[in-house]
Amino acid sequence: MGYKHKPTFIEKMAESIGLIPNLHSEEDYAPSVESLTEPGDLSKYPPPDQWNDWTEYEAKTWPKKEKKTYSIVPTTCFNCESACGMLAYIDKETNQVRKFEGNPWHPGSRGRNCAKGPATINQITDPDRILYPMKRVGERGSGQWERVTWDSVLDDIAGRMRKAIQEGRNNEIAYHVGRPGHEGYMDRVLKGWGVDGHNSHTNICSSGARFGYAIWYGHDRPSPDHANAHAILLISAHLESGHYFNPHAQRIMEAKMKGAKLIVLDPRLSNTASMADEWLPTYPGTEAALLLAIARILLQKGWYNRPYMEQWTNWDAYMKSEHPTKPQTFEAFIDALIDVYAEYTPEYAEKETGVPVAQTLEVARIIGEAGTRFAQHNWRSAGSGNLGGWAVARCLHFLSVITGSVGTVGGTSPNTWNKFHPHFFDNPPAQKFWNELHFPKEYPLAYFEMSFLLPHFLKEGRGFMDTYFSRVFNPVWTYPDGFMWMDAYKDPKCFGLHAALTPVWSETAYFADYVLPMGLASERHDLNSYETHSGIWIAFRQPVLREKARRDGKQFKFTYEVNPGEVWEEDEFWIQLSWRIDPDGSLGIRKHFESPYRPGECITVDEYYQYIFEETKGLKETAAKEGLTALDYMRKYGAYVVEESVYEVNKRPLTAKELDGTEVADDGRVLKKGKTVGIVHDGKPVEGFPTPSGKNEFFSQTMVDWKWPEYAIPQYIKSHIHEDEMDRSKGDYPLVPTFRLPTLIHSRSGNAKWLYEIANRNPLWMHPEDAAKYGVKTGDLLRINTEIGYFVDKVWVTEGMKPGVVACSHHLGRWRRPSDPAGNRWATATVQIDNDGNGGYKMKQLKGIHPFKSDDKDSARIYWSDGGVHQNITFPVHPDPISGMHCWHQKVRIENVHPGDEYGDIFVDTKKSMEVYRRWLEMARPAPGPDGLRRPLWMKRVLRPVEETFYIRDEE
Ligand code: SF4
Repeated sequence: MGYKHKPTFIEKMAESIGLIPNLHSEEDYAPSVESLTEPGDLSKYPPPDQWNDWTEYEAKTWPKKEKKTYSIVPTTCFNCESACGMLAYIDKETNQVRKFEGNPWHPGSRGRNCAKGPATINQITDPDRILYPMKRVGERGSGQWERVTWDSVLDDIAGRMRKAIQEGRNNEIAYHVGRPGHEGYMDRVLKGWGVDGHNSHTNICSSGARFGYAIWYGHDRPSPDHANAHAILLISAHLESGHYFNPHAQRIMEAKMKGAKLIVLDPRLSNTASMADEWLPTYPGTEAALLLAIARILLQKGWYNRPYMEQWTNWDAYMKSEHPTKPQTFEAFIDALIDVYAEYTPEYAEKETGVPVAQTLEVARIIGEAGTRFAQHNWRSAGSGNLGGWAVARCLHFLSVITGSVGTVGGTSPNTWNKFHPHFFDNPPAQKFWNELHFPKEYPLAYFEMSFLLPHFLKEGRGFMDTYFSRVFNPVWTYPDGFMWMDAYKDPKCFGLHAALTPVWSETAYFADYVLPMGLASERHDLNSYETHSGIWIAFRQPVLREKARRDGKQFKFTYEVNPGEVWEEDEFWIQLSWRIDPDGSLGIRKHFESPYRPGECITVDEYYQYIFEETKGLKETAAKEGLTALDYMRKYGAYVVEESVYEVNKRPLTAKELDGTEVADDGRVLKKGKTVGIVHDGKPVEGFPTPSGKNEFFSQTMVDWKWPEYAIPQYIKSHIHEDEMDRSKGDYPLVPTFRLPTLIHSRSGNAKWLYEIANRNPLWMHPEDAAKYGVKTGDLLRINTEIGYFVDKVWVTEGMKPGVVACSHHLGRWRRPSDPAGNRWATATVQIDNDGNGGYKMKQLKGIHPFKSDDKDSARIYWSDGGVHQNITFPVHPDPISGMHCWHQKVRIENVHPGDEYGDIFVDTKKSMEVYRRWLEMARPAPGPDGLRRPLWMKRVLRPVEETFYIRDEE
């Protein structure tokens, strides 16, 4: 095995005369860390010592040379999770932010941004943004609002929460987050309140794939070392729009420039697939069949990493349980694997997926040759689209295990190895409540909260939300079954008070009680750290006008004093709210919000970050070299490298402290109070993996114990949109709605004019052969029927779509009603919604996007009118019975339009929504599991409550 790519003649020539670096010497494959310690090769960026006073020519007055002087403040982008570094250029004359560019000192993004980063300037200058807190004055959803003071908001909400907590109704308080992006901040706040109130969007996003990884090795996210890989396999479009889009994309391209092979599984010819060496347009939901076929080829050909598999998988547990009469040897294990996966021949994979046998063999060869330098990633995509989608990530990780590329240079590490974990000034104890609205008994293995079922649960009378915060989140528009959300939000029997914390109006904010404007990327503090590559870094999102005011020596207390209008930042909002919930400290909440430096007084946001940065390994010392405090260093550079590279943490020796009170079991597990905390490897106790066995679990006793023995080992699960489910004679198609256009951001690009100018429609992608069946050409309308309704969309006829499959981007179709406050007018169609009083909802577009007058002259120049169609609202909920992930793909029945159908028409029957919900609920195999548990103790749980809550009490 080994790296085989040969330079082309042109590459050889270019390398020999120094036109391009020599990319074909073996040295180039050593781990590259210099890019983590030095700014990216972006020498045109202003040097940091001039950031306080930077002069350049004004672009707008060209060719006249007019000088402008800026104060440049680093912060981070908030337009996806990557938190790329940005530099805000603040005009010293006007104190206005003029533009955002990349921060070359940020180790993840290294000076680069995608289109969404610089578009932050659109968001902060959007004429429709909300600048003051608003309170509903009419019926919920009626569109009538009045401006109120922050004081009244804080007192009202805090009083309500205090009462709920005093009365033991802690489970009636919830925080529902869309875009998080602050390491541990809210978990600490919620624990401080003692509520099991964390609710995230993860089960409509990534929890399928997370479960697939976690059931293997306890870590739930992959961190591929793309830059050093020889083969990269992506299930989704990471280069153009996937997770950690820009930081991953730049490293994938670096690897490709060094000759790495890129393999992409996607039924759609995405921009990423177009850059692939091997594009495998698999039928959606069949990816695991292909991965198992590849796995079997690797095993048959002997292209597996024996030392890794033998030492770091629980193969012996599998043999003992499933093949007790066979020799308990590793050789017998490999034979058993080839046997158990006998069905997964390349021919079977071709039948299931449509990928030709020869291509499967070639891809297996590429992966086999890459060996320990095989990197992979699955995030949303197949993991989030299909019943059993989690099994795709499980089968994908199987390839990493076979090649021994887990945690290696050029391989794939667990995310936790590449992510920073801050030390807080105060750690409240775990809460003593288990909220079944978030983790119901039906879904004991659900990897995150069953958040998309909340309206269904509330309508069924399972509970009540007394005080509910939605935070940078838009469930009415983003989630499936949006009319159910609208219904529940309007219903006082479901929600007592809903405060929408959001920088902009949204389809969800329209149905809230309070709309509380929170800062955009450059108007708030957050600590960021993500697994963009093999190192660990932190970045500081800071309110740039606050930092500028500090540099100017101005006096202020809170960020809203320097932000536009009265836009708060959440960090300060939560501190102030918590302080008012417990003004005298009698609830035991206030003490968690007291300053570590000024006993008894309320902590400031500066003190909060000062403490974390002082506790960050090496930061204080690095800062001191420049005569700075740790906080000032972060204010100055906006980012810091904690570890340059991290590999093979599973082999890290346990410390004396960690070993204290442990014992070693016969099978080599290091146990503390009966729980695995490490494993003996090469005679030494080491960290291992956080699973019951301490190893990669090929065989999962957890799946057996929790009533899913058929999935004890990696398996292919046929999706709910498998070909067997289709009646092609009636126009059935699988619809792939899980992709996004690279310049858009879920519901947060509606206030970014540049982004909407680039992309504003979401037609139905259809292959010419399929279009011919309907006699349609690009731009014609089709009616797409789901299980609960339909939407009418234009078609885009393209050979970039797999025949027999259709796709539609999920980022478009924003709307507002005539009664709603003007919001996101760059992106929203005006619609009429009619309720037939019997569960049926109709939405009709009254007017597309159109120009409007504002302080921004561009608003009168809008030339696009089509904002797309809101397809998600026509989807029922599909909770995967194991991972809990919403399975986004839809079996749709496509028809030519009916008389009277118009573009953007939508119909949904919410009675059918409830029927589909109950049908999927029946697939679940509820708790209790062993010992009366409601969830396996070893599995992670967000905002983990005390251990006794894991056991179902007798009275339950
Ligand atoms: S990838 Fe783009 S949107 Fe995401 S953080 Fe980076 S610049 Fe912002």
